[in-house]
Amino acid sequence: ECVVYWMRMEDLRIRDNRAIAQASAQARKDSVPLIVLHVLSPQDYIAHDRSARKIDFVLRNLQIIRSRLSELDIPLYTVSHEPRTKIPAFIHGLLQQWKASHLFANMEYEVDELRRDIALSGIARKHGKVSCTFLHDRCIVPPGEVTTKDGRGYTVYSPFLRTWKSTIDQATSDYIGEAPLPVANDPAVRSHPVYSNLFDVEVPHEVEGFTLDPKVRERMASCWPAGEDAAHEVLRRFLETMSRTSHLGVTDPLSESAKMAKNPSTQSRLGKYNDQRDRVDADTTSRMSPYLAAGVISARTCVREALESCGKKKVDISRDTGVGRWIQEIAWRDFYNHILAFFPRVSMGRPFLEKYAHIQWETNEAHLQAWKDGRTGVPVVDAAMRQANTMGWMHNRGRMIAAMYLTKDLLIDWRLGERYFMEVLIDGDLASNNGGWQWSASTGVDPAPYFRIFNPYTQSQKIDPGGEYIRAFVPELAKVRGPEIHKPPPALADKLGYPRALVEHDMARKQAIERYKNIGKK
Ligand code: FAD
Repeated sequence: ECVVYWMRMEDLRIRDNRAIAQASAQARKDSVPLIVLHVLSPQDYIAHDRSARKIDFVLRNLQIIRSRLSELDIPLYTVSHEPRTKIPAFIHGLLQQWKASHLFANMEYEVDELRRDIALSGIARKHGKVSCTFLHDRCIVPPGEVTTKDGRGYTVYSPFLRTWKSTIDQATSDYIGEAPLPVANDPAVRSHPVYSNLFDVEVPHEVEGFTLDPKVRERMASCWPAGEDAAHEVLRRFLETMSRTSHLGVTDPLSESAKMAKNPSTQSRLGKYNDQRDRVDADTTSRMSPYLAAGVISARTCVREALESCGKKKVDISRDTGVGRWIQEIAWRDFYNHILAFFPRVSMGRPFLEKYAHIQWETNEAHLQAWKDGRTGVPVVDAAMRQANTMGWMHNRGRMIAAMYLTKDLLIDWRLGERYFMEVLIDGDLASNNGGWQWSASTGVDPAPYFRIFNPYTQSQKIDPGGEYIRAFVPELAKVRGPEIHKPPPALADKLGYPRALVEHDMARKQAIERYKNIGKK
């Protein structure tokens, strides 16, 4: 007999992982080995617009996990399966073959994934041999625990945040306490007739259909080193050190921060987060998103360590401290996951505000392509898009500006932008990406009102006053000095081989407001 932990693609860690901890406890109780299973599902990757960059990141993390688990005599069995609808039966077959008594996994809140888990539980119940347990682990506070007085999900962030905080305050350790590490198997498992072969199964370097250009792979591996140690190091440096070198260009967050001299008299990036986080021209945010989105580190650990670094015992969400502000961002992540769980239509390509399903979008392929390529002629939008294209990551302000530009200035359907972000970002995450896109398109929960449209030029002056960000990612403008960098006059743009703006912002703004207003009247 054995106990199985099914590791999902947003669950890629051993530390502070509830399902592996419980699976290990069960295995010890029953004196049987723990087996870890990972199922690669190319059809799910296609259905969810997973990028080759993200799949490569998953595989790189799995390779490290495999060797860590092997030190504990725990096998990681990675297997690919199609069609995706048959995954429940396939897994049940493996559980029977392995004579498993229990299966543990952390829950995924996307509709397809919930249906898959319900199907597996159904098959297991019918055969009566394996007990399946699905645990909440993705959020700090699980969906369903932060509700309005009448038990409904919040659709506005501020009251959600207040209830979220008071829920945690009632039992802080339940929400941010660390799950125990798994315990090693008896080494005899390596010669067991059923389980020994599992140790020989390697993690593939590629999944068919998700081939990454070797140069891009190398760049991604250097920007985003895999593994729990890397994730913890990126976090530590955000909490403890101040970046004085510029992060711009394609850099690896570890070697970049390694250049910094540790100077206790300077405030950490966390300490400055409240004042600096919107600046795109410096290393102002944590860059934890690829690691959080793939579960290489838990959100609990991030909050716990942030509080510890400031000597705090209770969760702080005050708006005027760095740590309070940062924890508020982690709370946004919870908020959007709760929205996904309460309102599954958002994961089916539908707007949260149903009336906006009928907006008349422009179908201008050339504009869409120019936006994707970072050639809209609006420097801050282009810098942001090129940052995503090269690094697989974009600063939050860049995402907001680029998304609002696509949906309001170009009036292109937010779903096309949502999909493109999933294709290029290494931190692509359905809940946060959908939440961010629907916020920008004014179709979501607690969205930007449709009449409050960012002016990308004034935004650019605020978040990149010296134009460093633009110069780093838009080489055509590298030699432009002064305010013209934010809005190069057409003659200068022509001379530098930089595109002229696709649309005139004031006119586009009026047109967008008109379209939204008309829908509102219906
Ligand atoms: P920090 O500022 O250091 O924040 C810490 C963590 O809090 C982040 O790593 C993230 O997990 C969470 N967080 C921060 N802001 C948000 C937010 N607005 N919504 C939800 N969680 C947040 N985030 C993703 O992880 N994946 C996505 O695919 C994604 N797509 C987005 C698309 C759009 C259009 C917008 C406007 C935002 C999107 N975000 C997404 C949210 C946010 O931009 C990123 O989480 C953030 O930029 C990541 O950088 P960081 O780790 O340095 O963030």
